[in-house]
Amino acid sequence: MTRRITILGSTGSIGENTLSLIRDAGPEKFDVVCLTACNNADFLAEQALEFRPEFVVLANPKNGEALNERLTGTGIKVGIGRKALIEAGQLPADFIMAAIIGAAGLEPTLEAVKQGTHIGLANKECLVSAGTLFMDAVEKSGAVLLPVDSEHNAIFQVLEKQRPHEVSKLILTASGGPFREFTAKQIKQVTKAQALNHPVWDMGAKITIDSATLMNKGLELIEASYLFERPSAKIDIVIHPQSIVHSLVEYVDGSVLAQMGSPDMRTPIAYALAWPERMTTTVKSLCLPEVGKLEFYHPDAEKFQALSLARSALETGGCAPTVLNAANEIAVEAFLQEKLGFPGITDCIETVLNRFKREASFAKPLETIENVIGIDQKARHVAQEIVAGNTGL
Ligand code: NDP
Repeated sequence: MTRRITILGSTGSIGENTLSLIRDAGPEKFDVVCLTACNNADFLAEQALEFRPEFVVLANPKNGEALNERLTGTGIKVGIGRKALIEAGQLPADFIMAAIIGAAGLEPTLEAVKQGTHIGLANKECLVSAGTLFMDAVEKSGAVLLPVDSEHNAIFQVLEKQRPHEVSKLILTASGGPFREFTAKQIKQVTKAQALNHPVWDMGAKITIDSATLMNKGLELIEASYLFERPSAKIDIVIHPQSIVHSLVEYVDGSVLAQMGSPDMRTPIAYALAWPERMTTTVKSLCLPEVGKLEFYHPDAEKFQALSLARSALETGGCAPTVLNAANEIAVEAFLQEKLGFPGITDCIETVLNRFKREASFAKPLETIENVIGIDQKARHVAQEIVAGNTGL
């Protein structure tokens, strides 16, 4: 049966990989009904002309005219702005890929969740930001959440969901990023070009910087805690530079089950797209003798403080993960615009968290999505002030 597919964030790295799998599988398997982007009107128009969705949305109104011009007379409905992005999440679909970057994806992804359909979750920031409320919405609607992050996808594949008490811990692997072997002194001086040069994965700019600071693993720790209902103490992180073992689950009898594969995001995306079946892909077959060795190390918490900031935010709960995520988004953007040095990213996040810690409500659970959005906006504002004046750094 043909499955109706929406991709929120189709012009990004995950979006493109998803469309490439859909292209390879052919129109009898997948029918693209909706595609969205933020700024990239040209690329979105190109995708729309190839896949002929019913609806395309550009979140930033600035380039709306350009998209309208490209798609006039094609019969494809064009939506512009945030409201249209929400509508994209509401359009009935069998599978919705949540691949917008950052907390900007929260509202459309929640609309998708409300449909009770299959959701491919790449957009970890929306789960980090709204954790419990997001998972409550999933439970209420009966949506099936299929993790696309390769680590969470790996755990999803090897986790005995019926017998959670038999799981002793989850082990998330991390490539370690480009600065794994740098000294603390060298890390202080790294450039934007160095940070954007990931040794294994080819990804969008924001997640590439998150991988360099190891905040990506911190966000994934929080993501795993909500997705698999495990406390921080039951989730370990190990550095595995080859990125072949995507993550592991340890059981009470000492068995450890891992999912492996070539480092290619098309595998977890294909798993989510085809679930509960599997689909054929052209991903390079894994040849272990060619890989040669698989190494594992403890992460260096002193060099990569983002990890302990994230773990502490998870353990604090309340608005801490929301603040951590928002501050990180602003700090990474500032680093990409060369307004902040590399160590300034974690310094900025820590300063924002410290400011929020003074508030009595810091550890209190957020009760509504509006509260989450309010805290997210406030934390962004504080982070922007810090970047602008370098106050407190
Ligand atoms: P990209 O930056 O490559 O793409 C992001 C997508 O979101 C683009 O379509 C972009 O549109 C759109 N977008 C950006 N800002 C907004 C906004 N404010 N409102 C609406 N749409 C917006 O990101 P990635 O594909 O790398 O990552 C997407 C998500 O998947 C992230 O949460 C990331 O952490 C996660 N992920 C990514 C992996 C990867 O391999 N890339 C691996 C695992 C997880 P436009 O092009 O117009 O800017």
